[in-house]
Amino acid sequence: MSIREIRYDLLVPPRVAFGWGRRSEAGEIARGLGRRAWILHGSRALERSGLLSEISASLMVAGVQAIAAGSIHREPEVADVDRTAAALRTKGAGPGDLIVAVGGGSAIDLAKAAAALVVDDQSATVKDYLEGVGRDLRIRRPPLPVLAMPATSGTGSEATKNAVISSFDPPFKKSLRSDLMVPRAVLIDPELTVSVPPDITAHTGMDAITQLIESYISRRARPVPRALALEGLEKAAPALPAAVRDGSCRWAREAMAHAAFLSGLALANSGLGMAHGVAAALGVHCRIPHGLACALLLPAALRANRQVSRAEIARVGRALTGKTWPSDDAAADAAIDAVDGICAEIGIPRRLSEVGVEASQLAAIIESSRGNSMSGNPRELSDAELREILEEML
Ligand code: NAD
Repeated sequence: MSIREIRYDLLVPPRVAFGWGRRSEAGEIARGLGRRAWILHGSRALERSGLLSEISASLMVAGVQAIAAGSIHREPEVADVDRTAAALRTKGAGPGDLIVAVGGGSAIDLAKAAAALVVDDQSATVKDYLEGVGRDLRIRRPPLPVLAMPATSGTGSEATKNAVISSFDPPFKKSLRSDLMVPRAVLIDPELTVSVPPDITAHTGMDAITQLIESYISRRARPVPRALALEGLEKAAPALPAAVRDGSCRWAREAMAHAAFLSGLALANSGLGMAHGVAAALGVHCRIPHGLACALLLPAALRANRQVSRAEIARVGRALTGKTWPSDDAAADAAIDAVDGICAEIGIPRRLSEVGVEASQLAAIIESSRGNSMSGNPRELSDAELREILEEML
């Protein structure tokens, strides 16, 4: 490739609707995707508040039959996907149907994976399709269309081509990935996130910030996602502490929902880095929620990459602080200080031991950190270097 050549692919959901209260348009959007909707959700709070019923009602008014297809309130495991896909198949889900996913990354990932497995019948278990753990099967047929309605502001799963699936025995957290898995429509109503409690708002919000930063400095970073990542960081830096302080703060919830969506577009097209690599391992070995694990790791990841990615981290620093800064050195320091500041303000612990990680677990954590995310990290980290970083954080 010549030094001047710009060349990239960009994968984005074909239809995106964003706006406070727009859940009322779920039916109209779903009607373009199918006549019968299987609804998978991921929040008891949304069920209790009646917001979920409003979505079902909107579907029915639009002439789309709405059928409850289950719920998930933790990160999805292999058995959850296998069970959901088998149940959908038994109930006759197929051509002409769509899946509506209303929830956090867990519900959206479960829906994306089940939508693919219902149609693609090479194996009865999603494990066979997961990167690096199964038979390396690829999704060959277009999944049932998915309408994704995020109810947390964090993962950006509504914009990505993968679903993250866990297993505890044997321990792994891996992706099912295919260009065919990008949701066909995304409806982001930030009002759905108002009921997210402060701690989950903090964790999921830090997932979005980590995705924006890691995709920006990733060795696979692409120009369009980079532009989006800076926009997301400018919005998220003031909004996350405000949303944690007051969950009903409309501008903060809107800004975080927007930033999370951008973080999904950015990660799907640019990759991630060390914080996400280690976060997956902390999820399976220590059962730490994904967003919290990302938040814990982000300051260390920035420090580890500062030498090789100073100019990029400096641009992150300018976006996070809204200041110009006289040099890249000063702006890169400002990025790290800003992340430390946000984490302190929203109550993210600093040490791994505070969330129960023990020295005896480090070998397994390091071994499980070597996935797709880690391969985007700007600096190549040996096992010994990673151990040193994690030991310092204990
Ligand atoms: P989550 O979906 O697990 O939700 C966290 C908790 O919040 C759950 O108990 C859920 O029931 C509750 N909740 C959800 N919405 C709520 C609401 N509106 N009000 C009150 N409570 C609500 O958390 P998450 O961080 O959104 O998703 C995490 C999962 O997403 C992990 O498995 C992670 O690996 C995955 N992930 C996927 C991608 C992707 O591109 N596919 C990217 C990043 C992370």
